[in-house]
Amino acid sequence: MRINIVAGNWKMNTTVSEGVKLVSEIVEKSKDLSNVKLIVAPPFTHIYSVCEKLKGTEIGLSAQNCASEEKGAYTGEVSAEMLANLCVKYAIIGHSERREYYKECSEILLKKTKLALANSISPVFCVGENLNEREENRHFEVVRKQIEEVVFNINENDFEKIIIAYEPVWAIGTGKTATSEQAQEIHAFIRKVLSEKFGKKAENTSILYGGSCKPSNAKEIFAQPDVDGGLIGGASLNADDFIAIAKSF
Ligand code: PEP
Repeated sequence: MRINIVAGNWKMNTTVSEGVKLVSEIVEKSKDLSNVKLIVAPPFTHIYSVCEKLKGTEIGLSAQNCASEEKGAYTGEVSAEMLANLCVKYAIIGHSERREYYKECSEILLKKTKLALANSISPVFCVGENLNEREENRHFEVVRKQIEEVVFNINENDFEKIIIAYEPVWAIGTGKTATSEQAQEIHAFIRKVLSEKFGKKAENTSILYGGSCKPSNAKEIFAQPDVDGGLIGGASLNADDFIAIAKSF
């Protein structure tokens, strides 16, 4: 059975004390939530303090990234093992901002994915086309390639731990959202591509939508049969909005 997930990607926002306040509010306001798994992805510097606040709750802790190497002379990097040691259970891998600004290609993303999995961290693997690719009607081809180059290279057992986030780049932080029909169309396509390699297991994969998701549009998007929740950027920085999105199921 696949689960509904609402994950908040805080990106490079909040100081540690602001982050602790935010997560405390989320813990408080999510007490009556059912039918949805909440995940928060604060910056690395907040992981320890946020972990303390999440103890005894069902809310999952995610990193926004992890290193592509296991350990050693990689100045500035944070390894999957270090994160696992701090009760991190998820890591966002392949976010379009990492692909674009830090030139992370599939080869690197596959290494990160494998290291996360080897450390019992579930990757939230992001795929999505940019505006040009959508306008040229190449979004299916682009998303298929992103999946084939990474997800098709992990084994069946590990595949069960993967969460996919479909995030059209043209909708991230722009206020533009994919229509619910566009979201359903490509989520169903993603599930079909996954099933070509992993068969029926693809039915159990949670596929999240990301891109200017907010309380006012979440209900319609989440109502689509192949949309299993959201990866939320801007709106996850406000506890009321984040919880309102989670209550949209
Ligand atoms: C994101 O960056 O993952 C995202 C979906 O951002 P926003 O919700 O701000 O568009």
